[in-house]
Amino acid sequence: MKKSLVTLLFIPIITYSQSFNTDIYYGDQLCGIAQMALNPNNSLSFTSSSQLNTIEFPDSFSVDLANTALNKILFQIGASRDRFIIQACPNIKNALAVQLGGVRYILYDQNFIVQVADNFENSNWGEIFILAHEVGHHINNHSVDLLLAENINSESKLKQREQELDADLFAAFIISRLGGSLEEIVSVIENISNNINDQKSSHPNLEKRLKAVKVGFERGIGNNTLDFYNSTPLQTAEEYFNRAILNELKENYDAAIYDYNKAIEIDPFNHNALYRMGVAKKEKGDYFGSIKNHTKLSDIYPQWYKPYSEIGTAYYEIGDYNSAIRFLDTSIQKKNRAIEFKDYNNFSESDENDSYLDYFNRGQAYLKVRMYDEAFNDFKKVIELNKNNHRAYSQLSQIYILNNEYYLALSSINKAIEYNPSGSKNYFNKAVILDIIHQSTLDEIDDFSDEEDKVEILKNALDFKLSEIENYNLAIKFDNEYAVAYRSRGVAFEYIANRIVSYDNQLLDYYLQLSEKFNIFYNKSLKKSNESAYDYYMLSACNDWVIASSLGNTDSTTWISDYCN
Ligand SMILES: [Zn+2]
Repeated sequence: MKKSLVTLLFIPIITYSQSFNTDIYYGDQLCGIAQMALNPNNSLSFTSSSQLNTIEFPDSFSVDLANTALNKILFQIGASRDRFIIQACPNIKNALAVQLGGVRYILYDQNFIVQVADNFENSNWGEIFILAHEVGHHINNHSVDLLLAENINSESKLKQREQELDADLFAAFIISRLGGSLEEIVSVIENISNNINDQKSSHPNLEKRLKAVKVGFERGIGNNTLDFYNSTPLQTAEEYFNRAILNELKENYDAAIYDYNKAIEIDPFNHNALYRMGVAKKEKGDYFGSIKNHTKLSDIYPQWYKPYSEIGTAYYEIGDYNSAIRFLDTSIQKKNRAIEFKDYNNFSESDENDSYLDYFNRGQAYLKVRMYDEAFNDFKKVIELNKNNHRAYSQLSQIYILNNEYYLALSSINKAIEYNPSGSKNYFNKAVILDIIHQSTLDEIDDFSDEEDKVEILKNALDFKLSEIENYNLAIKFDNEYAVAYRSRGVAFEYIANRIVSYDNQLLDYYLQLSEKFNIFYNKSLKKSNESAYDYYMLSACNDWVIASSLGNTDSTTWISDYCN
């Protein structure tokens, strides 16, 4: 099914209680949060921060290598790979173990760990040691919840130093089990620590860390894995929930739904599991199942807006636009009320970033039932809340067209292009608007126009026509399989061909001034006449139709046999 609604890149889960965070993150957003937590004075900004670290190391530790290393590490202790998410973050200058919304993450900066690992004898043991160290934090349940912690150093320094030694010991154990050497570990430790008094530091000094890795390494030779980890079957609601999330991220929706059900069986009021199960059902296309889940959730938490929002978008997907509007209405009202009364049980700050979504989706539903004024107001609201929203500008421009306000449509589509300069559809839509304006310009010619006025109007119209063609060019540039764009550009070329032979040389001269491309062709042409210009543009039209036809456009197929030889 064609995705017509806006969905977010990250998967937001309930932030229902202040005591725990339940959003799950990945990609840039996860790295951004990590970066902010590591450096709380920085504002959350992905672009500016990535500029801080642009040095590329030639032997950067790849994501594939990291995943392989993680598999090896976990295999040694029999821990399930499904309990961790590993993610490279290019700008955190660190490696860390964090837990967010119950999911365990290992984040690492590729350049950082390559630098620290020192690439001892061209092996990757240093990098593996650092990852194993972070796994060690998880295995020992050290990992902090980034969004809960005031900053990453919230544990007492003494406790932190103990935890670092636990993680070192674990990592050295792993390296020893995997066949690495103690020297390689020592080389990393020497790189990251010194023997200055560590009383005020979160990390222990060199001597202590060397002692820890030595113990761990020897324990690895002793082969006693149970000292670190007891592999047990999943049994708590939380464990099922975690595995479900990982399956959902991998788009294994059936497996995810199975686990959410398990979590709900154990804990019937697990609102996170109920919510995510509804989302997972929607993702796999089971819209009625999704509505059922969210309805149940809205019975348990009647003041919470999110189930209504989900039900609304599910109805949209089904094609029941009136129900979609009704539920999105309710969602918007409940959310606005929660914000007004500072009801933090029913909305969170992270919800505020996507406030525009319900308006956008309701606007889409209003368009479907032809309630254009209502749709217009919703898209205006989207822009008020999210000012660079190119999709809202693009929809506004469509509504302006329906109201015959073509210059307003043009300025809206220009905004959409400004905020999304590589969107081929916007250029196509702009071309369509220019075509309409072109036509309305020609309509100014009437029986009372004198010849001079007529030529002026025609020249003016040609300006619009050529700029229309420019926009088809851009639409095709960003999507070279855009059949309708080829078709329509062909029509524009054909139009110009016919205009040239229907007027005298005044117009031809002007065309020559206006179009350099035409000029070049014309000067090379033997005929040097209107007829040669006609041939040139008809050839261009036919070329476009051949491409459009090969991409499945049936109009073009007909036109080729009718007009092209
Ligand atoms: Zn550590």
